[in-house]
Amino acid sequence: RGAFDVERVRAEFPILARPVRGKPLAYLDSAATAQKPRAVIDAVRRYYEEDNANVHRGVHLLSERATRLYDGARVKVARFLGASDPHEVVFVRGTTEAVNLVAQTFGRQRVGPGDEILVTELEHHSNIVPWQLLCQEKGATLRAAPVSDAGDLDVEALDRMIGPRTRLVAVAHVSNALGTVNPVAEIVARAHAKGVPVLVDGAQAVPHLAVDLPALGADFYAFSGHKLYGPTGIGVLWGRKALLDALPPWQGGGDMILSVSFEKTTFNAVPHRFEAGTPNIAGAVGLAAAIDWLSAVGLEAAAAHEDALIAHALDALREVPGIRLIGTPRRRAGVISFLPGDVHPHDAGTILDRHGVAVRAGHHCAQPLMRRMGVAATVRASFAAYSTRADVDALVRGLHAVREVFA
Ligand code: PMP
Repeated sequence: RGAFDVERVRAEFPILARPVRGKPLAYLDSAATAQKPRAVIDAVRRYYEEDNANVHRGVHLLSERATRLYDGARVKVARFLGASDPHEVVFVRGTTEAVNLVAQTFGRQRVGPGDEILVTELEHHSNIVPWQLLCQEKGATLRAAPVSDAGDLDVEALDRMIGPRTRLVAVAHVSNALGTVNPVAEIVARAHAKGVPVLVDGAQAVPHLAVDLPALGADFYAFSGHKLYGPTGIGVLWGRKALLDALPPWQGGGDMILSVSFEKTTFNAVPHRFEAGTPNIAGAVGLAAAIDWLSAVGLEAAAAHEDALIAHALDALREVPGIRLIGTPRRRAGVISFLPGDVHPHDAGTILDRHGVAVRAGHHCAQPLMRRMGVAATVRASFAAYSTRADVDALVRGLHAVREVFA
């Protein structure tokens, strides 16, 4: 493994070589979904060409092979997160499904009238709405810890909000809208001091931070494969074994049972209890390939590259007249949010697109956070291992064009 070489990394992403609107593509929307390296695309194709069968049932060779690949992906994910037991890894569709799974098993079991779920003001809707639905069903209350004008979580305030009725703290590791990195280990320590478990939404963290679950101490950790250079439709819920073992099943169906009669069904052990039906085998294979790919590139080297690029982009954006950064967190990963003068973010995004620059414009599925920051929407540029200074230059050129159009 040599030094980090972004051009070598880029060469592994077929889509990045394809022009968009006749322009070279500056893909600055990796927080929405990352592009896929050839290693991932090939792994999925190879799986379908050479190994495809259903898992956990067949007596034949291909089924054995598919099962070995699927279970192997689980082991790989566990290692990637620093978890010792692969049985703590539940394959789901993505972060959204992981949070809903916890809300509908842990939540249904442990939350009652008058209880509280504590989230924060910087959550993605997928770490708000499932809890709101649960609270409505149970007569419980959803509360949100505040963030500062800079977009940092107020950990002292969060601590004060953890009370005797708090059943769970659910917090993002990294904000998808501002890039804020939350001090998860500290939040977990404070919640645990009061006996309250913590769920971490790691969707925006896993591509940029080396996650070490024992060091974080969280009880549940969720992420999506597609933001980690893997396929869509596969994600992970990690949970502490003792906690998962004590939870009731979620969806019913094949594979999650030990025995079924019309009188009574007994349920399979964790994680199979939570994986009803035929899983996304090819997705798990692709996710394993993505983890291997990122490990070979070096997650920390990629993150250092991204951090340097983000520092450069912040400097460059400050030079563009009228640009107002939204969120200046103490620690940032992956994302820059800004307002393009008085131009509506959607209009700016449309003009940037004409220049081959792909950004996201909108509320980023974080409407409460937008409200807190006093804006309706922002333009978001987000970065990955394959992002370059040329991408930032294209963004800055595009923003000058936006100014000209609206001058
Ligand atoms: N949480 C955060 C912080 C996210 O950025 C996202 C994706 N935008 C999600 C949750 C939801 O992930 P998915 O759509 O893959 O389920």
